[in-house]
Amino acid sequence: MSTLPDPSAGAAVKAADRAHVFHSWSAQGLIDPPAVAGAEGAYFWDYDGNRYLDFSSQLVNTNIGHQHPKVVAAVQEQAGRLCTIAPGFAVDVRSEAARLVAGRTPGDLDKIFFTNGGAEAVENAVRMARLHTGRPKLLSAYRSYHGATAAAINLTGDPRRWPSDTASAGVVHFWGPYLYRSPFHATSEEEECARALAHLEDTIVFEGPQTIAAIILESVVGTAGILVPPAGYLAGVRELCDRHGIVFILDEVMAGFGRTGRWFAADHWGVTPDLLTFAKGVNSGYVPLGGVAISAEIAATFDRRPYPGGLTYSGHPLACASAVATIEAMAEEGIVEHAAHLGEHVLGPGLRALAERHPSVGEVRGMGVFWALELVKDRTTREPLVPYNAAGEAAAPMNAFAAACKKSGLWPFVNMNRTHVVPPCTLTEAEAREGLAILDEALTVADSHTV
Ligand code: PLP
Repeated sequence: MSTLPDPSAGAAVKAADRAHVFHSWSAQGLIDPPAVAGAEGAYFWDYDGNRYLDFSSQLVNTNIGHQHPKVVAAVQEQAGRLCTIAPGFAVDVRSEAARLVAGRTPGDLDKIFFTNGGAEAVENAVRMARLHTGRPKLLSAYRSYHGATAAAINLTGDPRRWPSDTASAGVVHFWGPYLYRSPFHATSEEEECARALAHLEDTIVFEGPQTIAAIILESVVGTAGILVPPAGYLAGVRELCDRHGIVFILDEVMAGFGRTGRWFAADHWGVTPDLLTFAKGVNSGYVPLGGVAISAEIAATFDRRPYPGGLTYSGHPLACASAVATIEAMAEEGIVEHAAHLGEHVLGPGLRALAERHPSVGEVRGMGVFWALELVKDRTTREPLVPYNAAGEAAAPMNAFAAACKKSGLWPFVNMNRTHVVPPCTLTEAEAREGLAILDEALTVADSHTV
């Protein structure tokens, strides 16, 4: 711990926060944000001396852990050399970041448009798709998250997040595969895959393929439940897009850069989209950065025609320096392979063992360091432990589970009736076992709410 606990300093930080910081996604008068004093590796700590094993990777972005020395040094070095430069110039660090990202994206996604984060990447990807095809509509899945800006929030397949001030103009939602709560009443992965593809094709045909610019999908759905697609689903969507001249956008903002045990989740199924959005893990969020990787064909659309989009901080030198250092460290230290190992040999088996012991665990699913435990009241009926969009008393069982985790030093990621197990890719095996032991204990709280 580099910062000694000092509760009075923590109180001052909290008081200033309450007075002046307006927080995301919150009723401002009902929150009590914990004051963080520092972080390192898989841990962060507060001013009272409480240390937490971060099984959330913050917002599922610190793939390389907190304060990786190579990334910190790279940002410091870049700050001493060139802090800022407009996007219209060619600079070494931006060229190198683009080269390293393009070297890892699938297929011919070799041109990189940099943004400040994931939502801006989605905004620009859909703009490129609309301009490339000359078509207006966008198809996206229910149970998805694509960001909180205008187009991205309307693409997000979660009505809780739809703003009441803007209509979802030109956006059509469809059901993706989710066998545990199958919208298609399927009983096997194969059936779920086939029915989901047939449903998507029906949607395309009835909407009119000539009106559809793009289909956007998370390769593995993140925020909405860690839904790993059945084998053949992404390839099937690719085929539908090819057949109907629709741009295929894969959103790898959360799943990319090691989280699933590959550089990109699409690599598991050998699928290449036309546009791929990324952010989070590209530099573990040390400086805001995201982007769109663009196919040769779509990039060529803008060879003689200006692309009508840009950002003051596109390809910011400090962000690019942190991306270069992150990607190099991930490659040199075998961090992506480590995430795959943790998923296969430690987290996967460990979480499945928890499911055997705890009646509240309805399903375990995931890969790499990207897992969900879906908690239920009743395993037979699969009734969720808390209802959809639970607040107040209704959310009590999940709140009690989260409180039990925190009391034992684990920071969980909780969303509705699920806890997502999404630690950094750099988590050690010992830390993974420590976290699993805390989850084991905390799940007894969830068990007490089962029938
Ligand atoms: N797309 C996906 C798949 C995400 O998970 C997120 C954020 O969680 C976003 C887009 C939005 O990214 P940002 O919050 O950086 O704008």
